[in-house]
Amino acid sequence: MTRPYDVIVLGVGGMGSAACLELARRGRRVLGLEQYPLVHDRGSSHGHTRIIRTAYYEHPDYVPLLRRAWSGWYDLEQLTGRHLLTNCPCLSIGPAGGELVEGVRASAREHGLAIQNLTADDLRRTYPAFRFPDGYDFVAEAAAGFLYVEECVRAQVETAVAFGAEVRAEEPVRSWKVAGNGVEVTTDRGTYHAARLVVTAGAWATRLLADIGVPLSVMRQVLLWFAAADRRDLFRRDQFPIFLADVPEGPFYGLPAIDRYGLKMAGHYGAAELPDPDGMTWDVTPADLPPARAFLDEYIPGVGPLTKAQACMYTLTPDRHFVIDRHPLRPQVAVACGFSGHGFKFCPAVGVVLADLAETGRTELPIGRFRAGRFQTQTPPPNPLPRGERGDQASAFSGSPSPPGGGG
Ligand SMILES: Cc1cc2nc3c(=O)[nH]c(=O)nc-3n(C[C@H](O)[C@H](O)[C@H](O)COP(=O)(O)OP(=O)(O)OC[C@H]3O[C@@H](n4cnc5c(N)ncnc54)[C@H](O)[C@@H]3O)c2cc1C
Repeated sequence: MTRPYDVIVLGVGGMGSAACLELARRGRRVLGLEQYPLVHDRGSSHGHTRIIRTAYYEHPDYVPLLRRAWSGWYDLEQLTGRHLLTNCPCLSIGPAGGELVEGVRASAREHGLAIQNLTADDLRRTYPAFRFPDGYDFVAEAAAGFLYVEECVRAQVETAVAFGAEVRAEEPVRSWKVAGNGVEVTTDRGTYHAARLVVTAGAWATRLLADIGVPLSVMRQVLLWFAAADRRDLFRRDQFPIFLADVPEGPFYGLPAIDRYGLKMAGHYGAAELPDPDGMTWDVTPADLPPARAFLDEYIPGVGPLTKAQACMYTLTPDRHFVIDRHPLRPQVAVACGFSGHGFKFCPAVGVVLADLAETGRTELPIGRFRAGRFQTQTPPPNPLPRGERGDQASAFSGSPSPPGGGG
């Protein structure tokens, strides 16, 4: 038997690499297991960039986590000496009184964040590429930007390893189970033991965490890049913001041109929900283009031909909020899944929460909204001990007893 680890992290994508980093930084003996090569394009953390913002329309409860995430990304830049985050304003566009613009305003009000309401005239002057008819509201936020997603994952993995984590790529976890007070994890290359398990399996959580009572599904999303029709300057980030747009055709978002591929955009949600990643089609076909092209023709008319396209997976919860919690049946296990297409920006904060949950079963960061049990319609089976009193408030690694869970 190999020497036990403090924590095994199952799945080393965006969230798993953040958890490995935070645990290793705290001096824990960590093993990260990833089924694919590190920084791959068959999960959810690829496609060059990810938006980060602060006045979160999804709910004000996210804002404290966002503040932790921003500082985490800046720290990682300093630790690695790499540029991971570029500041760029974010413009939310939606019908007056609609969920998007009112959600941004609610978060800003509750947390004292700076936002700016733009008139149609302001919009024409500041961001001339847009053409929205009357009836829309425009809310701009300067505390926003984009992360270089693959560079971020790479930086998290490499820094975790520099702090002493072991990360094994191309080693899929075949099974795991509770063993005594800890866990036993099996791959084709061996069986590993640890006091705690963190499951950050992205879209594969649909299968690996089928017993946590969260009805997860997978949604294919296509990222598209477009050249400018003629005026490239209109799409540079001095004249073109990150945008989120809530239009009758559905929600769309985009980023300014930062390289030879040009403006990047995609629809948000709206595709079929799949039970797991097996149903995923990775090829992008001409059938993927019309909704985005129709959106551009209507609202951003100066956009030219498609230059690049890539498919990616969302893992959805029914309410589109995350799941970050201890496993409801197995207190040795912390889970983070169902990021519902907006999780990447939170990686450093999620890493901290997962490390806290693995170490003590608690966290100071507010994660009440992300409880796994919120989808239970019936009373769940009794936990071995009530939430927050499960016998492992002390360090999980100091030999404090944890109640045995079921099989896994
Ligand atoms: C098109 C698109 C655009 C997005 N835009 C944004 C955005 O602008 N801003 C934002 O904040 N978020 C955005 N998101 C969401 C964000 O990217 C995801 O929430 C985030 O990347 C999820 O990270 P993860 O670690 O859960 O999943 P992943 O990064 O996919 O990691 C899961 C890992 O687990 C591994 N794994 C699974 N099963 C096993 C196993 N049995 N053994 C070993 N390893 C295993 C997988 O191979 C994978 O590497 C977007 C997502 C998509 C698809």
